[in-house]
Amino acid sequence: MRDLLIRGAEVLASAAHEALVRADILIRDGVITEIAAGVSDQPGVPSLDAAGCVAIPGLINAHLHSPGNLMRGTLDGYPLEVFMLYEVPPLADGPEDPRIVRLRTLIGAAEMLKLGITSVLDDAFFVPLASRSAIDAIAGAYDEIGMRATLGLDQPIVVEYEKYPFLADILPEAVKRDMERAPRETAEGMLEHYAYLLERWHGRGEGRIAAAVSCSAPQRATPDYLEALSTLARRHDLPFFCHVLETKLQRVLGEEKYGQSLVQYIDALGILDEHMQVIHAIWVDERDVQTLGRSGATVAHNPVCNMRLGSGIMPFRSLRNAGVPICLGTDEAVSDDSHNLWGAIKAAGTMHALTDPDYAEWPRASEILACVWEGGNRVMRRSRRVGRLDIGASADIALLDRSADAFTPLHDIRRQLVLCESGSSVRHTIVDGRLVMQDRQLTLIDEAELKREVRSLEPMLQAGVAALRGSAAALEPYYRDMVQRAAARDVGFTRWVGR
Ligand SMILES: [Zn+2]
Repeated sequence: MRDLLIRGAEVLASAAHEALVRADILIRDGVITEIAAGVSDQPGVPSLDAAGCVAIPGLINAHLHSPGNLMRGTLDGYPLEVFMLYEVPPLADGPEDPRIVRLRTLIGAAEMLKLGITSVLDDAFFVPLASRSAIDAIAGAYDEIGMRATLGLDQPIVVEYEKYPFLADILPEAVKRDMERAPRETAEGMLEHYAYLLERWHGRGEGRIAAAVSCSAPQRATPDYLEALSTLARRHDLPFFCHVLETKLQRVLGEEKYGQSLVQYIDALGILDEHMQVIHAIWVDERDVQTLGRSGATVAHNPVCNMRLGSGIMPFRSLRNAGVPICLGTDEAVSDDSHNLWGAIKAAGTMHALTDPDYAEWPRASEILACVWEGGNRVMRRSRRVGRLDIGASADIALLDRSADAFTPLHDIRRQLVLCESGSSVRHTIVDGRLVMQDRQLTLIDEAELKREVRSLEPMLQAGVAALRGSAAALEPYYRDMVQRAAARDVGFTRWVGR
């Protein structure tokens, strides 16, 4: 059932609206068809009493890697390059179990729906190789639980040590040989997986499930593969996920490997366009910012992850001044360590004050909400818009308890959404006109049973983490050397504060 009449909510229709307006919201076939006071009952359309609720557009988590969903709390603080030894171990082998892939996707999606997050852009990686069964398990899980999801296949195709500066010189020859022999995808293999993803899943679930393309990062792919992905993105009008200049080391890598910044590199390849989601964009210089502004690309800001991994602070105001649209993400359950976009919203709304003494430059609450809803909508590239409660928009709605701590007393709904809300006020979540959570109960899956199944995996997961600690510890000294060499390089500016 994708018809619903929401009765008596106080509505915040978009980030541009200042005040709440009491109205009924009529949804037909998953689309908002009327927002007004006193909408008359519709034959056959169920109604939801939302008196005492604030209705807002469902949140859009614009960057996530669901394969990390079962790893929350496993790691202390590490910089990205060391962190990835645990997250995507370079010498891993063996196929992924589709049952576990399904469970881990569901547990993350369940958490998001309970937080009022109705859409996700999932940049899913596969350790070590992609497979149709894993693609089916991820996309199928989002379909099953009723979430709107855009899925990309984040799979590097180059040898591990080629993704980094200095590493080929630092590593012992025997380790390099192991890395060369480790299972690895090819461009041809990945393009076959994309053909399958598009054919099997793009547009499924009444259009909720969609495909994206992903190169992971430019240095993890070849120029030919990057161009092939860009062609796919343009042909099917898909988002193109690309991690760019997340760390200082990646800035140094650009100098060492390409003789230019990674932003200039992808621009010169002709792939930096409005399809691209540039993930992080922290170690961009002023020229890169201007290039991004001209490109039409959207930047994904993941502030909690960036702090957790010590990556630095994205130049929010410079990017906005250059006209770059920004969306917000949690990135990963092992680098956030939750799916709670509300935490990323608060971090984005506060951390940029550390970078500029001129408070006129600090982001305002309305700007941050615009990143979530407008930036999220832009990067999803759906034919029917999301992120706004408007006639003709997809009916993706979070209903929040007006009497919750976050809104008591209520002064300014937008500021209190950014600074006070933790997600605990969310009472009902609607995706595509379906009540996927009602009175905090997920309606399409048995959450208690899901959690039981995930808990039953704990011994296996803990053994896996222990094994990872061993394999990562063997490589860590080399990676630490590399990270420290890059940190010592003068790149002409810094994105770390307090240095
Ligand atoms: Zn990421």
